[in-house]
Amino acid sequence: MFQKILIANRGEIALRVLRACKELGIQTVVVHSTADADAMHVRLADESVCIGPPPSRDSYLNIHQIVAACEITGADAVHPGYGFLSENAKFADILAAHNITFIGPSGDHIRIMGDKIEAKRTAKRLGIPVVPGSDGAVTEEKEARRIAAEIGYPVIIKASAGGGGRGMKVAHTEADLEIALQTARSEAGAAFGDDAVYIEKYLEKPRHIEVQVFGDGFGGGVHFGERDCSLQRRHQKVWEEANSPALNAEERSRIGGICAKAIADLGYSGAGTIEFLYENGEFYFIEMNTRLQVEHPVTEAITGIDLVHEQVRVASGGGLSVKQEDIKFNGHAIECRINAEDPRTFTPSPGTITHFHTPGGLGIRVDSGVYSGYKIPPYYDSLIGKLIVHGRNRVECMMRLRRALDEFVVDGIKTTLPLFRDLVGNADIANGDYDIHWLEKYLAKGE
Ligand code: ADP
Repeated sequence: MFQKILIANRGEIALRVLRACKELGIQTVVVHSTADADAMHVRLADESVCIGPPPSRDSYLNIHQIVAACEITGADAVHPGYGFLSENAKFADILAAHNITFIGPSGDHIRIMGDKIEAKRTAKRLGIPVVPGSDGAVTEEKEARRIAAEIGYPVIIKASAGGGGRGMKVAHTEADLEIALQTARSEAGAAFGDDAVYIEKYLEKPRHIEVQVFGDGFGGGVHFGERDCSLQRRHQKVWEEANSPALNAEERSRIGGICAKAIADLGYSGAGTIEFLYENGEFYFIEMNTRLQVEHPVTEAITGIDLVHEQVRVASGGGLSVKQEDIKFNGHAIECRINAEDPRTFTPSPGTITHFHTPGGLGIRVDSGVYSGYKIPPYYDSLIGKLIVHGRNRVECMMRLRRALDEFVVDGIKTTLPLFRDLVGNADIANGDYDIHWLEKYLAKGE
């Protein structure tokens, strides 16, 4: 087991990882920018190292400073959290070269999944169902026309190097194709420095369903069920559930089994998430994230297993604490992402939180790094906390969520709490009847 873990992140996830390390009796080091000197995880860590000024590129993305912080403090492993360097293959490689363990998969696996064409090809080879489309990059309009005609319109053109929902264009008819191909390529080139694009069938009303997987580091793989993250705004997840209201037990174990086997065949190590669009009973792979996800607590709620403990165990060569047959799904969980944003316009609302009171009671978990008097710096993303609610079934979970949202007080800044108070009373949400476009349509109606 590791002696000392350095946490290369900030905010709620830095605190989340710190808690797991403390429980495992591992010493903790956190790195922080000058803007985060007062952060909760900095106060609670055994050691802290200031690695630079507020902009992420000078601090949380500064690989040399982070490696130096490991060497100064004698940390033998790094947990990258999510975002920042968590899917940076070069960072994983550099740590390995310094004999520091990256708590995550190998640089090679990160690289494969970071290239969407390569990821899709790999998924297909491993027996994961993918969206029908081109086999690789498409440059010629003639070829694009042929593929689109074969799979049928509408089609979506996506950047191979894409991320964050950028560089995607939909063509509804053949007449739209030329312009969609050109715009997607020039946007991809400008945003990612790589203009490779590929074509897939555009699904009209899918749900976003993702499977939590783990490779044990010895060639074995398991799944921890799925999460439904269909409620999104601008491709950003807003509300997540486990299990998905759309799947039955048979579908769950079928797709879970396919993913667990793929992970084993790939020789993957650590936590990963295989993301699908789901429509008319079919799953279509879109991408794999090679890290812990923001929404991992809903999986923890229904399985009772601490996924960060498992990440640390696997990275240290100790394997998983559970086998597939030990992983049972108990009840239902929902997570609301609470952002420091205007609940109608979603413009960021940084500033000082004058009062912060979190709900409590059975089945309630709040993961947050903020406190009364905390000043939210304007440099980073606007997530200030996550409310995770667990119940014996979805109905109980929703009743408890409504109660918890009523208790939650955040004064001094605007937050997205009012949006969740609206959603929890909505009939479609109560019925679990929504697809990936539902929230955008709902928000458009409210204006
Ligand atoms: P990114 O890495 O940029 O987030 P993804 O491939 O994960 O890109 O896709 C982001 C979102 O775009 C999906 O969650 C979905 O809403 C939409 N999308 C992607 N591919 C398709 C498709 N084939 N049909 C319909 N919507 C899609």
